[in-house]
Amino acid sequence: MKDQIKRMRVGEGRISGAISIFLGTLSLVGILCFKFPEQLTTKEFREVYTAEMVENLMLGGIIATFLFALVSILLNKNKQNAIIGICLGVLTIVFGGITVKGRAVEEISWSIGLDWLILDLLIMVVLFVPIELFFPKNKLQSKFHEEWKTDLIYFGISHLAIQLFGVITKKPAVAFFGWMNLEEVHVWISELPFLVELFLALFITDLFQYWAHRFFHSHHYLWRFHSIHHSTQNMDWLAGSRTHFMDIFFTRSVSYMPLYILGFSTLTFNVYILFIAIHAVLIHANTRINFGFLKYIITTPQYHHWHHCEEPEHYGNNFAVVFPFIDKIFGTYYLPGKEWPKGTGLVDASFPKGFVKQLFFPFTKNPFKNDLLPEEKSKR
Ligand SMILES: [Zn+2]
Ligand SMILES: [Zn+2]
Repeated sequence: MKDQIKRMRVGEGRISGAISIFLGTLSLVGILCFKFPEQLTTKEFREVYTAEMVENLMLGGIIATFLFALVSILLNKNKQNAIIGICLGVLTIVFGGITVKGRAVEEISWSIGLDWLILDLLIMVVLFVPIELFFPKNKLQSKFHEEWKTDLIYFGISHLAIQLFGVITKKPAVAFFGWMNLEEVHVWISELPFLVELFLALFITDLFQYWAHRFFHSHHYLWRFHSIHHSTQNMDWLAGSRTHFMDIFFTRSVSYMPLYILGFSTLTFNVYILFIAIHAVLIHANTRINFGFLKYIITTPQYHHWHHCEEPEHYGNNFAVVFPFIDKIFGTYYLPGKEWPKGTGLVDASFPKGFVKQLFFPFTKNPFKNDLLPEEKSKR
């Protein structure tokens, strides 16, 4: 079932057609960000780039849209995708894509992170599409499997709501620890060398994440929400985004708590966010790349695919997202040599398809016929 859709291969002109549509769409949406920066871009993220950078990116995006469309026309008998790509490129030019200039932005009370969504999507595609194309784990799996659009919507929503998530996940940290005087801890952390501070930030957040994650696996009602993340049968770079709002809110609130209260520097915070954004995508990717001895220090796709394993006897392992030794400490480490799980997903769950249905479903309904927790199943 899951390999119904034929995987694209280099030389057929289908990949170039898809890339042309992808870049054309990003360029067109990018133009909207130039026109309505107050509403569609976020203050925090605007500080990361300059007007000149995004103007050049826009121009490069339009040129690349046409180049990939041209390659697709030359290689593929079916011209449909190339034509769509060209139309998107032309529309972007009509809306001023070539001459557009970044302008000063007024502050308004709300905005959505469309700029962050475009740039993150672009970076992820540049990094992970070649990795999955040339070093795949499952060689038959297509990027455009049955549920890729749902996963893309999850990716999109979590990026657009970046400010909202930022604000609400900070609230519990402030509520619980705001009254404490942690001045001495802040001074101690600020005096640490950068790499030590970064390691500490990664370690403490992963420790908090570990227990939040394990809690979601060991509580019947919470497992309904987290099992959505485990429902994916086609592990790939987009699949990790399939995470219910409640799951993101709770797990992120708990794991970010140390970052909010212990006084890590802005640099550490930003490097942490960048690292986690890329690494979390990597560990879900459909790639056999195994990073040699590094797999004992940092989690790899093989490691996290075992966490998503569909065989009940291996449920309830590998909760750590960054450091496998945290699982070692708490007895949940599982990495059998070079072996990979036969399949990923959940054997006895039935979820409705689509983002909106999955958003409401777990509040009132149970996706499992047999209401056993992963750990209970693994002991059967
Ligand atoms: Zn899990
Ligand atoms: Zn996962």
